[in-house]
Amino acid sequence: MAKKGRVFSGARPTGRQHLGNYLGAIKNYVGMQAEYDCVYCIVDVHALTTVETTQELKLNTFEMALDWLAAGIRPEESILFVQSHVPEVMELHTYLSMVTQFGKLTDLPTFKEKVRQQPENVNYGLVGYPVLMTADIVLYKTDVVPVGIDQAPHIEFAREIVRSFNYRYNTKVLIEPQVKHTEVLKVVGIDGKDKMGKSLNNHIELASTPEETTKRVREMVTDPARQRKTDPGNPDVCNVFTMHKIMSPQEEVDMINVECRRAGIGCVDCKLRFAANLNKHLEPFRAKRAELESQQSYVQDVLNDGGKRARVIAQQTMVEVREAMQLP
Ligand code: ADP
Repeated sequence: MAKKGRVFSGARPTGRQHLGNYLGAIKNYVGMQAEYDCVYCIVDVHALTTVETTQELKLNTFEMALDWLAAGIRPEESILFVQSHVPEVMELHTYLSMVTQFGKLTDLPTFKEKVRQQPENVNYGLVGYPVLMTADIVLYKTDVVPVGIDQAPHIEFAREIVRSFNYRYNTKVLIEPQVKHTEVLKVVGIDGKDKMGKSLNNHIELASTPEETTKRVREMVTDPARQRKTDPGNPDVCNVFTMHKIMSPQEEVDMINVECRRAGIGCVDCKLRFAANLNKHLEPFRAKRAELESQQSYVQDVLNDGGKRARVIAQQTMVEVREAMQLP
């Protein structure tokens, strides 16, 4: 079946993925493969704007790719690759930087936030981050970029850069990417408070063993007003219930919704049920991960092959770009 167009998405190499990554991003990446020609990139160059040591970059890239593949990214069908394997992106970034106004970059809320987060390291790359992101997207002649509503302004910015470039060089060589709105699902961490993430250590890793997963789930914070098992609970404010709604069979969700409110089911029981459902859900993922891990150099081969295929597209785009710019 002919595909609808090309999708591009990039994520920083954050190592082993957690349930938030899975439900908020990877699941969607996997699903889009049926309809789109997908290019998924592990953006190691972007990571350099915030990480100062690179010892963990390789391992993190490897672990992340392994998780994505185990979750269902099909490398025969999609391109999975590492950003730095396609150096053409740096060249395009430089050309695009000449049609991007500095003031616009420093005005972006995401840049200001980074300045607040790392005032001692406001590097040049940090300012140019959106330009490199645009280069990533347009280098592969991307039609659509899947983003949550909160990310849409970044793509609008990319579209502006593309328009400036095409106008300056009187060309249509670069494609303005369209936004494909995806449902923004925010998974809350086991603290029941903040967005699930590695940095807060409130995450549940997909690659954990069933025992480790159950242990993590047991640590989940429930309705704080429910002190004793005999107190009625309020599932509407309980993150475990929210997770049940995502992961558990409807009958079980309905039962918990009723029984929690009348103290018919305790939090420990409720969590163990969630852990069991989560572990069941992750069974095929874990089996596939173990299988891929046992095939020596498999992940590296996938990434190398993806890089080669990405580079073919990138080199073609750069021929057109240089021609449009009338570079000597
Ligand atoms: P990045 O810097 O690339 O955003 P993250 O690891 O923070 O790296 O996120 C990777 C992807 O996973 C992003 O699409 C992000 O929106 C999604 N994600 C991360 N944490 C969560 C979460 N707790 N809930 C939903 N989605 C999440």
